[in-house]
Amino acid sequence: MKSKRIISNPISKANEVRSQYNYEISAKVNLFQIIDNMNIRYRECFLGDKIMGACKAEGLHRLIAVDPNIEYNGRKRFTIAHELGHLIMHQGRHSCTDDMMNELKTSNMIETEANDFASELLLPHRALQEYLKIEDVSSKLVEKVSKQYETSLSAAAVALIKNCIDEVAIYYHDGERLEWKIRSKELKLTLEDCITCSDITRKSMQDGQATGEVDAEKWFKVNDEDMTCVEDTMYFTHLKKFMTIIRIER
Ligand SMILES: [Zn+2]
Repeated sequence: MKSKRIISNPISKANEVRSQYNYEISAKVNLFQIIDNMNIRYRECFLGDKIMGACKAEGLHRLIAVDPNIEYNGRKRFTIAHELGHLIMHQGRHSCTDDMMNELKTSNMIETEANDFASELLLPHRALQEYLKIEDVSSKLVEKVSKQYETSLSAAAVALIKNCIDEVAIYYHDGERLEWKIRSKELKLTLEDCITCSDITRKSMQDGQATGEVDAEKWFKVNDEDMTCVEDTMYFTHLKKFMTIIRIER
């Protein structure tokens, strides 16, 4: 039975683990070293329809299991970190789907805590704030951070925007249908739900990435001529998906 207790501050729990294993804020964590040191067994096996990761704690025996078909290393690392979060904060048994591990799609408190733990363990907010002191959120920065910390581009983008103090939004979409969107705290504009590709979006399909000024009405429900709207879109050919970063400059 799943534990319903909510007892933890996931951010401080993740940082406790980082400091327990002497990781500087700029360091990428070695998850296998951590779970091995915690005497947690690890297995890759089919877990059931749509289940990407699972864990259980029975007395001293703790196990993390991950779907062997997870293609991308960044995604696998997030799954392991998410399950580790459950074991540290929630005990019991947990089986988690992709949607549960997407903080923009789940409203379940236990899953949100495990996601916050995983994000902080992999991408400590103090490190991201250092990057953001000198650089804007851009496709270049998202790629740099995901490479440095070995995470997915999506995880890096979401973590950056949550720490950003500028007006920025990110849309993840297929050119027609929105999969998820997020905005920085500073951005007060209402984000569009319908995707209409700009010339920049279309250009990214040829070159993999494109940047340029766009009409704000493409991405927001506004009509404000005092602002400049800069689009920076990455196109992932293998997924046929776009990640569009919109920065407002006033
Ligand atoms: Zn979970």
